[in-house]
Amino acid sequence: MGNLFSIYTHSLLQTKKQKFMTKRTKLVNLLFLFAFFIISILKFEDAQPWGSDGHKKITEVAIDLILNLDKFSGVEQTKLEFLKKFLAENKNIIVERCIEPDMIRNEDKDEQYNHFIDIDRYGKYPFNELPRDKKMAIEKFGFETVQKNGLLPWRISDFTDSLAYSISKADREKMLKYFSWLAHYVEDAHQPLHVTENYDGQLTNQPGIHSRFETELVRYLMQNNALKLDAKNLKNELQKSSIVSDKVDFAFKIVLESYQFVSDILSADNYAKSLIPPEKLYRVEKRNGRTRYIYSDEYYSIMAGKLKDLINDRISKASVRLATLWLTALAESSNTNKTLMR
Ligand SMILES: [Zn+2]
Repeated sequence: MGNLFSIYTHSLLQTKKQKFMTKRTKLVNLLFLFAFFIISILKFEDAQPWGSDGHKKITEVAIDLILNLDKFSGVEQTKLEFLKKFLAENKNIIVERCIEPDMIRNEDKDEQYNHFIDIDRYGKYPFNELPRDKKMAIEKFGFETVQKNGLLPWRISDFTDSLAYSISKADREKMLKYFSWLAHYVEDAHQPLHVTENYDGQLTNQPGIHSRFETELVRYLMQNNALKLDAKNLKNELQKSSIVSDKVDFAFKIVLESYQFVSDILSADNYAKSLIPPEKLYRVEKRNGRTRYIYSDEYYSIMAGKLKDLINDRISKASVRLATLWLTALAESSNTNKTLMR
């Protein structure tokens, strides 16, 4: 999908602009497009989490939730006003940067382990074989195993702390990073295929389901106006929530909740496939030595029928939990810096 998208954009931009440009600007633009092309590949090719669309949507909804919040139990009013101002001013940056952790995974090999946890490698639900305390988990299984099985819940907890610290220090750059990155990890935790060993259907002969579910299906729902988030209901949900006292426990609860939906996604995929003859299920494209299976609209239409409520629910819950963790970091910060609190 990444390649298709970037090649399409590439040629579209080129034909549009060809008429007007001098040779020099053409060259500059070609270089720019080349860079864009490479970035697009990095961005989409190895994307494991919610596709970019899903990530950005959740982050945007979470920001809007805070902007519409009048008060929140446990958060001083001056702090809340500061947060609203900061998010209003930096909304676009935070929405754009929430996909950053996926983009750096090619440079930083250890980063990948922060995006998932294969919770079902630890026995049976609710997977109590795994101590929720990271130090104890490492003592029991060794660092390598714990890392290989994924660190996502602890990452969420750590980054909430880091966000609180950056707010305390009034460090604007770090705040932007931690608001955006915490968003990413909370969003990943709400994607059921981020919490299972069978993350890409490789164990059940359903390869490619990961991206079909989180990228193509989400895009299909958006294009068909089927992502319906109830702003009023979300606001109520946020008002009902409270500052998180145990962040690791909070993150693991999200993971366990997500896990319950893994089988629904896999079943929907099997169901859709059972209704569509193979020649209508997908077409094969070969590009850059890679084989791609582009699934048909018919497939996505059946998947949407089965999974649109699930996706709406995961996206809604992710935005409320994200807003809750942002508020938690805010409440925990010891911000005495008057310049930021103006
Ligand atoms: Zn991710």
